[in-house]
Amino acid sequence: MIKFLDLHKINDRFRKEMDEATARVLDSGWYLLGGEVERFERDFAAYCGVKHCIGVANGLDALNLIIKAYGFGPGDEIIAPANTYIASILAISENGATPVLVEPEWNTRLIDADLVEAAITPRTKAIMVVHLYGRAVAMEKIRDIAKRHGLKIIEDAAQAHGAMYMGRRCGNLGDAGGFSFYPGKNLGCLGDGGAVTTNDDALAAKIRAIRNYGSDRKYHHIYKGTNSRLDEIQAAWLAVKLPRLDADNAQRRAIAERYVREIANPLIELPKIPGDPQEHVWHIFAVTCPERDRLQEYLTANGIQTIIHYPTPPHRQDAYAELAHLRFPITERMHNEIISIPISPVMEDMEVEKVVEAMNAFR
Ligand SMILES: *Cc1c(COP(=O)(O)O)cnc(C)c1O
Repeated sequence: MIKFLDLHKINDRFRKEMDEATARVLDSGWYLLGGEVERFERDFAAYCGVKHCIGVANGLDALNLIIKAYGFGPGDEIIAPANTYIASILAISENGATPVLVEPEWNTRLIDADLVEAAITPRTKAIMVVHLYGRAVAMEKIRDIAKRHGLKIIEDAAQAHGAMYMGRRCGNLGDAGGFSFYPGKNLGCLGDGGAVTTNDDALAAKIRAIRNYGSDRKYHHIYKGTNSRLDEIQAAWLAVKLPRLDADNAQRRAIAERYVREIANPLIELPKIPGDPQEHVWHIFAVTCPERDRLQEYLTANGIQTIIHYPTPPHRQDAYAELAHLRFPITERMHNEIISIPISPVMEDMEVEKVVEAMNAFR
């Protein structure tokens, strides 16, 4: 069986250094908001090219805290792509703000900047761009619209660690970025973890306080905060893995290029490689096929594990009954036809070859 993602194999490459990091944290007797988190925050900020990184409990919280720190809530609208993972939308509604959904472009799967302006109302406060599947959103038009309307740009970078747009990393393309270190992400820990990146000093200080009960110093609370901290042990493991991220992303890129070069089947539409390959870190290699369910059964029968990202868009989820009347034909078609095939830095050449052969033999 070719696994969709072999997490054991991914992390086993770091076993010795991770063991050392574990021992260091155990020996320190300090498990929250200490030297390991500070060090990882410094490393990840430098990697992304931003002034500030704030470690938090998970990717949803990273987005949630950005919105909370900006003070966006009831009566405010935030624009987001209709085909995103539900976490992007939950971060908006958790704050009492209203998600305003916009269709993606079929080719890139990313928010269609040409449709964003029409979605703006006097209540709009921000545009959330989602670098879905690991591909950086083309930012010029979005920046221009945000500037003209005085809107913040929030990046959901949970799938795009290391992706670059015109020489700048995701997380450094808007006003603030949210990352997830969920185990399956391109940079993942062994549990939950997340981070906010920003160049905004005031926002960074506020999120730093809010993640720790709204406290700027012990037992002194300046905000009604929450508890959303990154563990020392997770930060220590992430610091071990971060230096390998670029090499891992290059490996994913090489597999994606091979898939695009070698898979040729009129029933299957492949994703496009961006003009600048650095724009994509291939968190997910999603193809479309009008007979998606049959393709999935066929691949399973041929020993290839696949996942659907995602079977149901947010506006069609029971949790968002208030959005159920909306129609997004591109999003809905995408969710009916999309299927993700294995891609990871630990896939063997033989496995890639087997996937290619199976994809080409599907009739
Ligand atoms: C994974 C993910 C999140 C949420 O991250 P968690 O760490 O699971 O909370 C948010 N947005 C997108 C696009 C994701 O893929």
